Amino acid sequence: MTNETFYVTPTGKKYHYRNCRTLTRSKTVIAISKRDALAKGYEPCGVCKPPR
Ligand SMILES: [Zn+2]
Repeated sequence: MTNETFYVTPTGKKYHYRNCRTLTRSKTVIAISKRDALAKGYEPCGVCKPPR
């Protein structure tokens, strides 16, 4: 089982790859493990399409 690091924003409901273009608009980007992102109810971003 992998536990990659993805990125979320304080107000977002999705998790992202670091280079996702939707993250460039946010001043604050928070690193989060995939396990934690899923545990906290984040959904995969539809733009950068990280794995679930
Ligand atoms: Zn994204």
